[in-house]
Amino acid sequence: MDFNNEHLSRFRELIDKSSSIVLIPHKNSDGDAIGSILGWWNLFQNMGKNVTVVVPDEVPENLRWMHGASDILVHEHSGEKVVAALKKADLLMFLDFNNVKRTGDLADDLAAVSIPRVMIDHHPDPEDGIAEVLFSEVSVSSTCELSYHLINALEWNHHISLEAAGCFYAGIITDTGVLSYNSSNPRTYLAVADLVSKGIDKSVIHRELFQSNSLGRMRLLGHVLCNRMELMEENGAAFISLSLDDLEKHGYQPGDTEGFVNYPLGIKGIGISAMFSEKEKDKFVKVSFRSRNEIPVNSYSEQFFSGGGHVNAAGGEWHGTLEGAIQRFRDTMPDFARKNRNK
Ligand code: 5GP
Ligand code: MN
Repeated sequence: MDFNNEHLSRFRELIDKSSSIVLIPHKNSDGDAIGSILGWWNLFQNMGKNVTVVVPDEVPENLRWMHGASDILVHEHSGEKVVAALKKADLLMFLDFNNVKRTGDLADDLAAVSIPRVMIDHHPDPEDGIAEVLFSEVSVSSTCELSYHLINALEWNHHISLEAAGCFYAGIITDTGVLSYNSSNPRTYLAVADLVSKGIDKSVIHRELFQSNSLGRMRLLGHVLCNRMELMEENGAAFISLSLDDLEKHGYQPGDTEGFVNYPLGIKGIGISAMFSEKEKDKFVKVSFRSRNEIPVNSYSEQFFSGGGHVNAAGGEWHGTLEGAIQRFRDTMPDFARKNRNK
């Protein structure tokens, strides 16, 4: 993969002279976000650098096996430690997001530090001025894959330890739905092949990622598919809604609803899926969208739910009730679906 030579040498220079690097992913971190920060964390450890990972909120249970996860500072629980780490830092690296708003409340603490920033990300339209050095590439499957190619371009491949390889592999696998979407480029498989050749135990990683569900999550999925999924067949759309009450009844833990939004796309004729998940009673709803083919749910989310993301996987927010969010979807989806019928 080609990178801008000036960016590569500036990045190398920043790493060489930094004595304390802080790595940050987006809030509601997924496999690609945690995989990429911990992949880099392991790589930098191997290079003898002093490096800290700060995440906005709790790391989902199925990602905590990654090496370095127990050293992560969680901003929502350890705000003071995070501020201390940021004060000491001389380089910030943002991974898997391109707008500081995506770090939630951590954004205020980030605004207070003025040190160089590097961003590595695969979402469209990075925020102006978000970082001094930008590695922004939408054609790549995941931030983990982009990181892998970047590490090769820097000739640091030999620093990818077994632990780092496991993290990067996990991010590629989760962001591509186990190599089903965003993975038609052969270079993704070359990256995977090299990571596997580092000696990772693929079956252990897949078990940790996909076969370590709690009974609560499995029951919640059953409840969602039976009682909380509605079709708008004439629009080729479907949605899932989950109230705080539903979540609490099933002993909800962060990450438990990860991937639920993909299920409606498994129904014949459904090309657009949404999930509305109440986070604060009658006040705040997190929204997720998925689509098939070229249907751009990122622009839909940007227009109607203050969000964004990728063409086929996007997210947004609704400040109001769960019913209000659903009504907004019912009101706006038919027109969007009509305009994108042939995609
Ligand atoms: P998810 O539905 O898994 O939360 O997110 C799907 C994709 O949309 C991810 O790539 C994520 O980074 C992006 N995304 C999720 N929520 C938001 C949001 O509130 N704003 C923006 N701009 N992107 C989001
Ligand atoms: Mn990603």
